Amino acid sequence: MWFLWTVIIIGVVALIFGLGLGFANKYFEVKEDERIADIEKLLPGYNCGACGMAGCKAFAEGVISGQIDQLSRCKPGKKDKNFEPILEYLKNHPNEDGSVQEIKL
Ligand code: SF4
Repeated sequence: MWFLWTVIIIGVVALIFGLGLGFANKYFEVKEDERIADIEKLLPGYNCGACGMAGCKAFAEGVISGQIDQLSRCKPGKKDKNFEPILEYLKNHPNEDGSVQEIKL
């Protein structure tokens, strides 16, 4: 009998924690600006840190937040292959207030 009660109690506790995690996942989700992932794809993707950031994703976050003011900080990046497509992307994907991200080549 004690075995059955153990299984029931563990099952109820697991159900409560599962529902709690499901609730937290749904209501406390932090939405990331989708432009970060798009800009990361336009970067060389070496994650070398030559730009002074932790990697390409951090660089892309810096572009969107305004922390990065010059794309050529990405040393392996090429003007025609990486930087100009990023500038074009930013023109076509403005900030929520309609402003375009100011960034130099
Ligand atoms: S220098 Fe360029 S390739 Fe290297 S981590 Fe920074 S953004 Fe990525």
